[in-house]
Amino acid sequence: MNVRKNQASLTTGEKTAFVNAVLKLKTTVPSQIGLTNRYDDYVQIHMDSMMLPDGSDRVPGWAHRGPAFGPWHRALLRNLELDLQDAAGDPNLSLPYWDWTVNQSPDAVVGSPWTDDFMGQMDPTTDVVKTGPFRQGVWVLNVRQMGISDTMLRRALGRSVFQTTGTTAATLPTPTNVGNALLETPYDSPAWSVGAAPSFRDRIEGWHGPGSIHNRVHLWVGGSMLPSTSPNDPIFFLHHCNIDRLWAQWQHPSGLPSRNYVPIAGTVGAPDGHRLTDAMKPWGGAVTVQSATDHHAMQYKYDDEPGVPHPLALPHRLAFPKWQHVPQKYEHQHHPMQMFMFDLSPEDKAAGGHARNQ
Ligand code: ZN
Ligand code: ZN
Repeated sequence: MNVRKNQASLTTGEKTAFVNAVLKLKTTVPSQIGLTNRYDDYVQIHMDSMMLPDGSDRVPGWAHRGPAFGPWHRALLRNLELDLQDAAGDPNLSLPYWDWTVNQSPDAVVGSPWTDDFMGQMDPTTDVVKTGPFRQGVWVLNVRQMGISDTMLRRALGRSVFQTTGTTAATLPTPTNVGNALLETPYDSPAWSVGAAPSFRDRIEGWHGPGSIHNRVHLWVGGSMLPSTSPNDPIFFLHHCNIDRLWAQWQHPSGLPSRNYVPIAGTVGAPDGHRLTDAMKPWGGAVTVQSATDHHAMQYKYDDEPGVPHPLALPHRLAFPKWQHVPQKYEHQHHPMQMFMFDLSPEDKAAGGHARNQ
């Protein structure tokens, strides 16, 4: 079973191994959907999950603003992790998570992901990433949202001066934000979208309640993390690894029975691709919502989990089917349009917008 570690506790060697595997996906591992490299496949699939080929919003989306937010990103991350393992020739290589309630500095301090041996630092006047393995000249953004021609990796890290449009976030989610979200039940609720009724998914994704948790982190990092192509920044995967860790904590609350995914099969009014036994798009087939609900059955755990009561003794659980290809390449004929993929919750906006974060 793979153990996903807190990025703040990685050794220099572990950071290097992770970075080198990512760089291999970006340079030497071929695309399976006709792009330049395997890493870019993940960027393209994520963009397609949010947008239609004509550049308008995909409604309902495959992965956001709906129940599949949890399992869809869990499937994407596990598949990337398996690809990284193949690239590195190391079956123990695991995705690290960034606990942004703890390591909140935008500077390259101890425990920060923004050090030169890991995610790197941006130029303070241009916001272009200039140091580290993903620096300008090394890391190129090949898959871009319509109307965006910039090929450079950029980050604002809370400095909203660089974000001239849309909502900004000067602070990251707090432990209180996360703690309260973990108390929210059920997993999701009708109308299976955003802001309709309290639910864990709506709250952790950031459309409901104080914190705007997942969305806030996209907004705080800013730059390349704002469009639908946000996996262009490798920090995307460390951010979503933490979101996945929090979902796992919600599923298995200490001292309480496990909490289930909804909507179940046949739920009237729930979007296709989001019900428990639905195949998730674009993968289809055996990549169902259910195949990405039990992270232990998917053969990984988090380094801060309490003892796993039934490690590997899961004969009837579904094994996660690694997808080898996506059946089609989506052609994008983009026309310029202003799109905002991530936003603060109504509660955070009512509390005064970007600076409020109780
Ligand atoms: Zn996403
Ligand atoms: Zn996201």
